[in-house]
Amino acid sequence: MGRTSKDKRDVYYRLAKENGWRARSAFKLLQLDEEFQLFQGVTRAVDLCAAPGSWSQVLSQKIGGQGSGHVVAVDLQAMAPIPGVLQIQGDITQLSTAKEIIQHFEGCPADLVVCDGAPDVTGLHDVDEYMQAQLLLAALNIATHVLKPGGCFVAKIFRGRDVTLIYSQLRVFFSSVLCAKPRSSRNSSIEAFAVCQGYDPPQGFLPDLTKPLLDHSYDPDFNQLDGPTRIIVPFVTCGDLSSYDSDRSYPLDPPISPPYQEACTLKKKGRLAKEIRSQDCPINTVDTLSQ
Ligand code: SAM
Repeated sequence: MGRTSKDKRDVYYRLAKENGWRARSAFKLLQLDEEFQLFQGVTRAVDLCAAPGSWSQVLSQKIGGQGSGHVVAVDLQAMAPIPGVLQIQGDITQLSTAKEIIQHFEGCPADLVVCDGAPDVTGLHDVDEYMQAQLLLAALNIATHVLKPGGCFVAKIFRGRDVTLIYSQLRVFFSSVLCAKPRSSRNSSIEAFAVCQGYDPPQGFLPDLTKPLLDHSYDPDFNQLDGPTRIIVPFVTCGDLSSYDSDRSYPLDPPISPPYQEACTLKKKGRLAKEIRSQDCPINTVDTLSQ
C-alpha cells in the first residue's frame, strides 16, 4: 500500500528511511533497549512476527558477527534477506511453525525472544485485543521452549480490558514484568510492550506444545484477580524525553515537494481550474481560468 503524506510527515518514518531501517518500528526496539539494555550479553535471539524486518535488522546489528542462525526471524510473510538472520515463513500460532523454531534452538537456547506481532486490525476493539493476546500467548508458548533461564521476552501488547490477565500469566514465568511505551510508539495507539526479564518458570513446569497456553476459555470473571494473584505491572515510558514526539508534526528539512504543490502555485496565480455552473454549461464542466 502506498504511503500517505501523513506517513511522510511522521518523523520516525522519515528517520527510518534516512537510516536504512525497513520500518519505523526499529526505533521502538532501539528505545526499549536504551531503557532495559535488552541486548547485553545476547548472542542468540528470536524475532517473531518479523516482517518487513526492521527489528531483525536491529538484532543483526546489535548481536551481529555471531554468524548466520543466531537470529531467527519468523513471519507469515516472506521478507528480503538480512545478513546473519535465518528466516522461517509460518504462522506462530501453528504447531508446525513452533516446532520448526524450537528445533533450531535445541541444546542451545536463546537469550532473547521478541514479538512485534500485530493481527490485521478489524476496528472491533474486543476482537482486535483478543487476537493480539492470542499472538502474544503463542509467542510466550514458543519462548517457554527456547529461552534459557534468565532470558528475556519482549512482546507487543494492547492495553485493553484483559491486559491484567496477560501480565499475570507473564509473571508466572518471569521475575520482572513491565509495560513499556517507547517514545516512537504513537500515544494515540493502545500498543505497548511487555518487557519480561529473568525467565524463571515455576518448579516442575514442562513446556508442552500440545497444551498451548493460549487455549483457555476466556471466562470474563477470570480477569477479576485479587489477593496475591493480582499483579500490578509498572508502566514505564522510554526513549529520551528530548527526542521526537511521535504525535507531533515537525517542519520538514529539507522541504519535500508535496503532490499538491503545483495546485498551490496555480492558485496563487489565480490559474487554478474552477467549476463553472451556468445554463450554457452542463454541471461539473471544468474550465481553467486565465490560461
Ligand atoms: N517488527 C517488524 C519490523 O520491525 O519490521 C514489524 C512487524 S509488523 C507490525 C506485524 C507482523 O506480524 C506482520 O508482518 C504480520 O505478517 C505478522 N504476523 C501477524 N500474525 C502472525 C502470525 N500468526 N504468525 C506470524 N506472523 C504474524
